[in-house]
This record gives sequence, C-alpha cells and structure tokens, in this order.
Amino acid sequence: MNKTDHNRLFNEIISDLSKNTASGLNINEPDTALRANTVKPKLLLHACCAPCASICMDRVRDHFDTTVYFFNPNITILEEYEYRLAELRRLIDIYNEMDGRGKIDILEGEYDPDIFFTMAKGYEECPERGARCHLCYEMRLKASLITAESLGATYYATTLTLSPLKDAAVLNEIGYGLAQDLKSSVKWLPSDFKKEDGYKKSIELSKKYGLYRQNYCGCLYSRQDH
Ligand code: SF4
Repeated sequence: MNKTDHNRLFNEIISDLSKNTASGLNINEPDTALRANTVKPKLLLHACCAPCASICMDRVRDHFDTTVYFFNPNITILEEYEYRLAELRRLIDIYNEMDGRGKIDILEGEYDPDIFFTMAKGYEECPERGARCHLCYEMRLKASLITAESLGATYYATTLTLSPLKDAAVLNEIGYGLAQDLKSSVKWLPSDFKKEDGYKKSIELSKKYGLYRQNYCGCLYSRQDH
C-alpha cells in the first residue's frame, strides 16, 4: 500500500496558494513587499519548542498569516516549560525583525500538567511513539483546532511532524480526523516537516540562533528514558 506523502501535499497547498496570490499582484513590486503585503490565509501552528519551530516557521511564514500556539501541558516540569516558551518567543522576535517577511504572532495555551497526567493515566509505561504519545498528540491538536476556530483560522498544523521520534503519519491522521469529527471550518494543513532535510536544517538554525535544544520530549516519562 502506498504511504501518503504529506510533504508533497503540503507543497501542493503552498503552490496553489502562491498561484492564487500571484494572480492578484503587481509584478513590479519587490518580492519582499509582495510577501509582506499580500492577504494570506490564517494558520495556527502548534509548536512544541523553538528548535522544531525554527524550520517549520521558515516554511510557512511567507504563505500564511501565522500564529504560533504553545500548548504543551505535557512538559511537566515548570522550569523546562518556561524555558522552552521563552526560547520560542526569542526566536519569533528574531524572525519578526527580519526584513520583508511575514510577522509571526504567538499565543500561549493553558498550562496545567494535570491535564497531561489525567490523560496519561494507565499509559505511564508506554514507550515513546506508543499509545501514550498518540493520546498526547491528540490532546494538543484538539486544543489547537479549537483555538484555531476561535481565531477564525483557515488551517491548523503542528511542528511535531519535524521530529524523527514522532510518527508523522499518525499526527496527520489525527489532524484530519479531528477536523472531520468536530465538523470544523478549520482545515488540517498536512505536513512532514522532517522531509527536505527539515530536521537537519532545524539543527543548523538552532546553532545559528543559539537555541536551547532539550534532550527529551517533554513529559516525566520521556525524561526518565534518558
Ligand atoms: S514522550 Fe512526548 S509525545 Fe509522548 S507522551 Fe511524553 S511528552 Fe507526549
């Protein structure tokens, strides 16, 4: 059975958006001005940390009016949570200071690790990529979808597909499924951000901007595995 290529689907959507946009533009305008001034569909991009967001934001920011959504109650240690959020804010500030490219907003979701622990009950011993992680993806994507709706976004997506430790096929299935089950007006933006050397580029960008790169996923259980 052929596996769906979610990176190809992502590129097709970007390409269609670019064509629609290009048809209404003045070709004499400088490219950077085009990027900044064109009306773009709104995207809520769920993000887990600055290193993963680095290349994902780079790939979406010229095509979407992007709000990064930091909803990660799975990061069970408060100091770790705050540090990852602070690094993400710092990176977005850096990106927003770059000339001519779309401004990125950031929104913090509710932080309460009990949300995670309640969800993970009975799944504490699951290995990473197992059932607990699938529930964790769903918890974060569902909150992202509801928030995307409240913002009037056209699309929602997640940076989680960047990580080689995350199952992009499962993430995309959940993303599509939630939009369908909730009869949402918001569409899932498919992705597999690790493709096109995405993961390698995220490491390079992390070095470039001196980003903190954690060595575990987020929850207490993933920390114990290291
Ligand atoms: S390992 Fe990561 S994805 Fe899995 S449950 Fe823990 S925080 Fe969530």
